[in-house]
Amino acid sequence: MFRHRLLQRQVRKHLGPAGVVPESCAALLRAVEEAYEQFDGDRRLTERAMELSSREMAELNERLLAQNGRNLAVLEKLRASVSALHADAGGAAPADDDLLGLSTVLEDLIRQRHAAEAAMRAAKEAAEAANRAKSEFLANMSHEIRTPMNAIIGMSSLLLDLPVSPEQREYIATIRSSGDELLSIINDILDFSKIESGKLELESHPFDPRLCAENVLDLFSTRCAEKGIELGLYCGAAVPALVVGDSTRLRQVLVNLVGNAVKFTERGGITISIAPHSRAGGHRLDFTVEDTGIGIPAERMDRLFRSFSQVDSSTTRRFGGTGLGLAISARLVELMGGAIQVTSEPGRGSRFSFSVKVGAGPAGTPRTAQAPPVDLRQCRVLVVDDNAVNRHILERQLEGWLMPVVCVDSGAAALARFAQGDDFELILMDFDMPGMDGLQTAQALAALPGRSLPPTVLLTSRGMSAHAPEAPFAARLAKPVKPRELHAAILQVLHRTPARPDHPVKPVSPFDHDF
Ligand code: ADP
Repeated sequence: MFRHRLLQRQVRKHLGPAGVVPESCAALLRAVEEAYEQFDGDRRLTERAMELSSREMAELNERLLAQNGRNLAVLEKLRASVSALHADAGGAAPADDDLLGLSTVLEDLIRQRHAAEAAMRAAKEAAEAANRAKSEFLANMSHEIRTPMNAIIGMSSLLLDLPVSPEQREYIATIRSSGDELLSIINDILDFSKIESGKLELESHPFDPRLCAENVLDLFSTRCAEKGIELGLYCGAAVPALVVGDSTRLRQVLVNLVGNAVKFTERGGITISIAPHSRAGGHRLDFTVEDTGIGIPAERMDRLFRSFSQVDSSTTRRFGGTGLGLAISARLVELMGGAIQVTSEPGRGSRFSFSVKVGAGPAGTPRTAQAPPVDLRQCRVLVVDDNAVNRHILERQLEGWLMPVVCVDSGAAALARFAQGDDFELILMDFDMPGMDGLQTAQALAALPGRSLPPTVLLTSRGMSAHAPEAPFAARLAKPVKPRELHAAILQVLHRTPARPDHPVKPVSPFDHDF
């Protein structure tokens, strides 16, 4: 039986109705059948082509031409890119139709990539090993240097306690302060290498974040007083009294940032602020160190946190420093789960801010639970201070305690307020002001007819507090004013006390409730 009807008929005609095909002809007849079928296909195609109108033919032709054009373009692109790859690999371009050549080129390229990757991996591992070795060496070296340095510092301190001539004292004091400086540089290097080699681990213990910042105030208060700049701390009302974290490392970051701010500020002052992070509640604290110093040019910002880098190569000569402080601070803050951000305007000042993760303190120790609040809401305060930074800090802090605040920048302005009949329950008076100083202003206010001086707290720079006059002041506070001391002084001069006795828990103060 054959599929093709014509062949079937011919076979019947020549071989009889049974159509038995001899073995020898079978292959030939099958080939003939295939040829018949092929011919039929061609015929059908030709007939179909004949049916197409000339317009359709033209259309089809056009489409085919366009398609062909696109094919050529794609081919050309392929060829060009393969030639380019080949040229990159340093060989000659293969012929257009040399498929074997193309595949050889591609194979070559892949081999080269693999080799380059392996070389890079090896180089990276070698560099990392070298870096680790360097960090370990630095850590060991710093450690070795620290031991004799401690002896130099300790012994020179002991010498200073002995009866020595003024000249000898001066020499010993220089040895002592140089030793301190050298030790702080070594500590920086040690810290940095520890961080780089991944060996620095944070501790975790309960601490009061405000006390931590107040420590930093203490450290810089003398230097700020000497430079004639203000230093202040603002602590938000909702900052918990106890959190869990690494207070030493947090303090180190603050010391670095405040140290820089002091170094680069000649006028105005520096504000440290602490507030709970807006979204994370007590589990994250935001810190800001803001100064009114020389600022940092925008194009230097990206170099700021790199190790050993200073904004200006003359910085070391003018201000000292190793350029490690910010690099260390940035890494420490990273370890504490945050990042340092900077904004700055040359000539106006800089603002460094960061937030760190902290754990919740032991149960029952939110600041508000320490003592019942004393209501200071009705107590209207006049702040008299010529320094804008200081006015701003005091205003924020007093407003944090819901006290209505009026700030003026001179004794004359304070007198004008009183002359207008303005009334205050309390005055915070800076001592060192141009024109009328704090004492002259207080005396002039006290002498106003028909008015008595409200309780007045004198704010003095640390160095001069010993000479500051008593009357007519109700209390005296050394600057930088700490929120806790200010609160205590206000309660004292207004004769208000918390309704409950002191809470025994240390280091939280009994007046902590409202900060
Ligand atoms: P250094 O130990 O040299 O101060 P840092 O890493 O702490 O190193 O600071 C790097 C550089 O960043 C400083 O040398 C200074 O040029 C610039 N810088 C840092 N903080 C301030 C700031 N508050 N105001 C102006 N410049 C700053």
